[in-house]
Amino acid sequence: MSIFVFVFGLLIGSFLNVCIYRIPKEESIAYPPSHCTSCNNRIKSYDLIPVISWILLKGKCRHCKEKISVRYTLVELFTGVIYLSLFLKYGLTLEFLKFIILSSFLIVIGLIDYDTTDVYTVTTWVPIIIGALFIGYKAYVGQDYLTYIYGFLACGGIIALIILLTKGMGWGDAEICALGGIFLGLSNGLLMMLLSFVIGGTVGAYLLATKKKSRKDYIPFGPYIAMAAIIVSLFGSYILEWYMKTFL
Ligand SMILES: [Zn+2]
Repeated sequence: MSIFVFVFGLLIGSFLNVCIYRIPKEESIAYPPSHCTSCNNRIKSYDLIPVISWILLKGKCRHCKEKISVRYTLVELFTGVIYLSLFLKYGLTLEFLKFIILSSFLIVIGLIDYDTTDVYTVTTWVPIIIGALFIGYKAYVGQDYLTYIYGFLACGGIIALIILLTKGMGWGDAEICALGGIFLGLSNGLLMMLLSFVIGGTVGAYLLATKKKSRKDYIPFGPYIAMAAIIVSLFGSYILEWYMKTFL
């Protein structure tokens, strides 16, 4: 079963690459079929096997020999590993389904933000609506659902407040945090925010110290929120437990 989940993750990862590449260009994610971005030749199905095709083709297009970025393969592997890890944590449950949906959207959001510094509404509001459906289901079966509403409001609200007070972040960041909150609930959502500030702050300080970026450069924050949310969906309970033991 684990291997099946991993391969399923690789295939979804391959589709996420299409989304990351096409959504900023406002192209359809369903049509046309995959083609080489350099010579426009349609890529045959046997050249579309995640990871393996890239290795067999030695990272080059079969027709024009243009280099194919290793990032496509890394995104596939990363998605496969996240799916497998979520499966090992949650088993074949509704929580597993919920978190593979969340992390898939976050991989797309994080990388598009990294590439373009833009967050696309379709990549945040579609999963927020899916999150609302999960809340409806939890309410229906009588489980705690308020925490997800609070998570949505608190995580989105904190960033909204930061924007109104300092203009230091974008509304896209507020949407990503609200998305994290609606899937993770209140305590894990707040943990996600804390972690994203720690990761983002550390990377930002490193980029400034090594002069890779100057104070005037815009450093997208979305990738760190996405990273933090994925970490929390896997290890949130352990981190909270450790925090309670250490500091309270
Ligand atoms: Zn080509």
